[in-house]
Amino acid sequence: MAKIALLNIGSELLKGRTLNTNSAWIGEKLKEYGWTVEETLVIHDEADSIKRGLSNLMSRNDAIIITGGLGPTKDDITKPVLMEIFGGEMVRDEETDSRIRKWYEMRQRQINDFILLQALVPSSCTVMTNLVGTAPGMRFDRGGIPVYSLPGVPQEMRHLMEHKVIPDLQKRFPVSQLWLEVVKIFGFPESEVAIRMQTLQPRFNPGVQVAYLPTDGQLKLELSLAEGQGRQEDLIAARQMMEEEFAPWWFTSDDRSLEEVLGEELKKLGKTLALAESATGGALASRITSVSGASKYFLGSMVTYSNQAKCVALGLTEEFIETHGVVSEQVALAMAEGTRERLKADFGIGITGTAQVYPNDPDYGQPVIWFGVATPAGSFTRKGIYHQDRASNIRHACNTAMFLALRELRK
Ligand code: AMP
Ligand code: MG
Repeated sequence: MAKIALLNIGSELLKGRTLNTNSAWIGEKLKEYGWTVEETLVIHDEADSIKRGLSNLMSRNDAIIITGGLGPTKDDITKPVLMEIFGGEMVRDEETDSRIRKWYEMRQRQINDFILLQALVPSSCTVMTNLVGTAPGMRFDRGGIPVYSLPGVPQEMRHLMEHKVIPDLQKRFPVSQLWLEVVKIFGFPESEVAIRMQTLQPRFNPGVQVAYLPTDGQLKLELSLAEGQGRQEDLIAARQMMEEEFAPWWFTSDDRSLEEVLGEELKKLGKTLALAESATGGALASRITSVSGASKYFLGSMVTYSNQAKCVALGLTEEFIETHGVVSEQVALAMAEGTRERLKADFGIGITGTAQVYPNDPDYGQPVIWFGVATPAGSFTRKGIYHQDRASNIRHACNTAMFLALRELRK
């Protein structure tokens, strides 16, 4: 297996100002094609660090992917340093030059010499044309090791990876087919999944690898099998066994998110959804409307954060809220029914609770969120107890609400 290393250049990455999403994306992408990233090195925009880092990585890997430091600003020095290492002189890449000029013309912006510096590349490299930005990608070769230098801008990096780097890697380091299958579940703890897997996994082809990827109450189970270790049917059989084992928590066997799956289910059944959000403050509406075509099934959300808003918009009364407490199943239910009736939706979801601790709750010390779900067949409630920070709890609660609605739709 080819050893592929990553070199992320950018002081902002080390100072925590920019999250190193390039590294995560490249790792996942290479995995998809059957390689793995052997190691990643994150360094400052400093000539010595770049020289030392690259030389180290080249001494023990078969290919290097560099990101960052290609911008036109003074702190970006990757290009001249690579020229020092690989030799040659700065030459104008005519193609890039005319592309930059056109880019500026189209946007009716004034071109300047500074920006045209982007078209200069070391004569020792092979240019990888960047169709989504101004900085070209470059490939250097030494001793059979390709060194790809890509811009840090995630969108440009991804474009060059997909159109240039991966096809080139495929020519140099062919891999046998790697099959992937995915099973996504919600609301079942990873540790309990692991316990069940102890009896389930021995029934799989021994070549099947299982990866656990949890986020906000969801668990993505990724199954992979390399050609030579078994047949694709073995992997599909393993996936089917998992779907059966985790059926009550299963929501999809592909890469779709909960909001996409819920949306498609609503569309398929011709049903509509309305929300009344307190604890999630509109976050659920935002998730649902991030899916294109949501207008077909999503009617709206009342973000009723105060008691007053719950009364005015949803028809609750101050006495009712006082009697039961605002974080209660009664209020969640009344919110769900209130929004369902007022927006004339098939399904209504009400969410009330606290994304952080709430002193009057019997579960003091843990954020509690109540969900009400109103459906044509009746209503019910669920209680969620959360353990993370505020933002994670809100994301988790949005997932809970979507999963509850999805399960009702599939009944
Ligand atoms: P650069 O090519 O270094 O000029 O990077 C351009 C922009 O891309 C920077 O301002 C960062 O916001 C972003 N960027 C650079 N490296 C990364 C990385 N590893 N992950 C995510 N974003 C990055
Ligand atoms: Mg930079």
